Amino acid sequence: MLLSGKTAIISGAASKAGIGLATARLFASQGARIAILDLTEEAAAEAAASLPAVPEGAHLGVACDVTDAQACQAAAKRVLEVFGQADILINNAGITQPLKLMEIGGENWQKVMDVNLTGVLYLSQAFIPHMRARKQGSIACMSSVSAQRGGGIFGGPHYSAAKAGVLGLAKAMARELGPDGIRVNSVTPGLIQTEITGGKLTDQMRTDILKGIPLNRLGEAKDVAGAFLFLASDISSYITGAVIDVNGGMLIH
Ligand code: NAD
Repeated sequence: MLLSGKTAIISGAASKAGIGLATARLFASQGARIAILDLTEEAAAEAAASLPAVPEGAHLGVACDVTDAQACQAAAKRVLEVFGQADILINNAGITQPLKLMEIGGENWQKVMDVNLTGVLYLSQAFIPHMRARKQGSIACMSSVSAQRGGGIFGGPHYSAAKAGVLGLAKAMARELGPDGIRVNSVTPGLIQTEITGGKLTDQMRTDILKGIPLNRLGEAKDVAGAFLFLASDISSYITGAVIDVNGGMLIH
């Protein structure tokens, strides 16, 4: 098992069909004890209870709005009290809004930046002192193909900007935290079938999108979970500041 004896904190992992929960499931099946952070304690606890058991103890569900720095600090305190250690942080929480450039108002911009980008900063800041003290840790951040090609299918320009910001932030974190034994990487998925598309994916859209995907299928949450497992585990021990595409070939560069 790749994550025996390790603990992993995953944000935005309560959504039933989401990438975060698929990642939590895969990590638990590889032996990790998981803390699921999401907007409500109830949803986070329910998701945590659904994971495969590990010998170290029960998984944990914690309410944490990643846009709230104090909430991130409180969540980290709680996780560390219960688990005693934090080995892996997956910054997965995110939202999208299918807006065109001229439709983006200040509130839209702020909200999308806050959850997708500022949340990565705040939650990482909450766990970094502990990781630094132990001289180890793996942080993986959720970006998107939207950051690389300027728009995906559902995200507006503000989403592209926030997810591109994640890549810059993660690379800078990798540079600064490398000497402390902490690795920081990012994942850039293409279109993955989750609830984030809000049921707006029509059959025609699907057919059109598939024409641009060499592997000829949309992504599944577990496809992204596999990339996170690689980055979280010691088999990627010399990889930091990297970006892994999980897009079926939608963007090859
Ligand atoms: P999802 O909507 O199923 O999951 C998102 C989760 O984030 C939900 O559980 C939600 O409650 C949580 N969340 C939202 N705001 C939060 C906040 N402020 N604090 C804490 N949690 C919060 O969507 P998903 O597709 O699984 O998305 C997961 C991540 O993957 C997101 O960052 C998304 O932008 C990214 N992504 C998704 C796709 C895709 O096609 N689905 C592609 C590229 C990147």
